[in-house]
Amino acid sequence: MAGFRGVDYMMIDSLFSEEELMVRQTARAFVEDNVVPVIRGCYRDGVFPSHLIRQMGELGFFGANLEGYGCAGMSNVEYGLIMQELERGDSGVRSFVSVQGALVMYPILTYGSEEQKQRWLPKLASGEAIGCFGLTEPGFGSNPGGMLTTARSDGGDWVLNGEKTWITNGSAADLAVVFARGDGRVRGFLVEKGTKGYSSSDIHGKLSMRASVTSSLSFQDCRVPAENALPGAVGLKTALSCLTQARYGIGWGAIGAAMDCYETARQYALVRKQFNDRPIASHQLVQEKLAWMITEITKAQLLAVQVGRIKDGQRAEAAHISMLKRNNVAIALECARLSRDLLGANGIMDEYPVMRHLANLETVKTYEGTDHIHALIIGERVTGIPAYC
Ligand SMILES: Cc1cc2nc3c(=O)[nH]c(=O)nc-3n(C[C@H](O)[C@H](O)[C@H](O)COP(=O)(O)OP(=O)(O)OC[C@H]3O[C@@H](n4cnc5c(N)ncnc54)[C@H](O)[C@@H]3O)c2cc1C
Repeated sequence: MAGFRGVDYMMIDSLFSEEELMVRQTARAFVEDNVVPVIRGCYRDGVFPSHLIRQMGELGFFGANLEGYGCAGMSNVEYGLIMQELERGDSGVRSFVSVQGALVMYPILTYGSEEQKQRWLPKLASGEAIGCFGLTEPGFGSNPGGMLTTARSDGGDWVLNGEKTWITNGSAADLAVVFARGDGRVRGFLVEKGTKGYSSSDIHGKLSMRASVTSSLSFQDCRVPAENALPGAVGLKTALSCLTQARYGIGWGAIGAAMDCYETARQYALVRKQFNDRPIASHQLVQEKLAWMITEITKAQLLAVQVGRIKDGQRAEAAHISMLKRNNVAIALECARLSRDLLGANGIMDEYPVMRHLANLETVKTYEGTDHIHALIIGERVTGIPAYC
């Protein structure tokens, strides 16, 4: 598809400022010039396009909505538009940026000491250092509060034991933000690459998120100095607050994948001819699918703008962001399925982005709170009754 121009059925661009549109254009051009040409090969080979990291740092993509310490200090809407464009390229590229900014830089900025902020944030913002976020364990995914990883206080240090799994950027990371149970509370720690007792191994055989590194982390009597504990990260809610930041970006990112699937299907349907030499776009059943896709994308865009605006006004709650993440990922997944259908046999080929988005979105539906878990968060918000157990 030559030169992606976005999808805007309802003049939603009129809701954005000139500055916001410029940020989107920068991210769009970056994706068009740098991600689109390489992503098919990366996905086939199961590798992340790591040569793009420093460039994304220079463009201010890492921690874009954070202030100070080399961060770009953009609004949440601008940040969301970057995520949208990146995921139009690939969910794996957007995941890298989400983890770096929302799950590594955000907790350091929010819960870290001044020394930790000064030491790590400028390097993470520029892409000189890579971070990962270790919360999930083999036995605890949706319910991270059950975690078994421990941190024992010993002579001023903390000694970590346990295992984390499904960690994006795990083996690539210079720094891991790790949550463990220490002195009866869940606590956050910074574990640096090379620390004795800390190791990682990559998870192979993924049929989704192939252009993203996913690893397991192991901690065996891993001693971290007291100054590597995040002083403010005490209690599970601090870990969950990081997830809220990442889920916000995912809610926008999913729109990008959905747009790509919709636009690919629309263009394909206009040129593919079946029955009486007519384009398949002339068939009612095909138009119904395109109409469903553009309607849902439009609703997803409006939801994202509204959540972004209330987040910029410090009024967004975790439950608002759950609705954004759950809805937008669900409709993106359905757009990918419908698009694959409309492309017929060609839909399964990696010459088109659709099957890659479809496979990626299966992960996006699961990580950062599954569709079910977000339904329960929304359910609790409207009934006051938690129904997780
Ligand atoms: C590619 C990839 C990258 C990831 N990156 C990271 C990362 O960087 N850091 C990190 O910490 N984690 C990461 N994760 C892990 C991810 O967050 C978990 O997979 C997710 O939280 C779900 O946990 P689980 O896979 O153990 O599924 P489970 O929790 O076992 O859930 C399985 C099914 O049971 C359902 N279920 C569970 N509990 C309930 C309930 N109470 N009510 C209704 N349904 C329920 C779920 O909705 C789901 O359908 C990643 C995962 C993937 C696939």
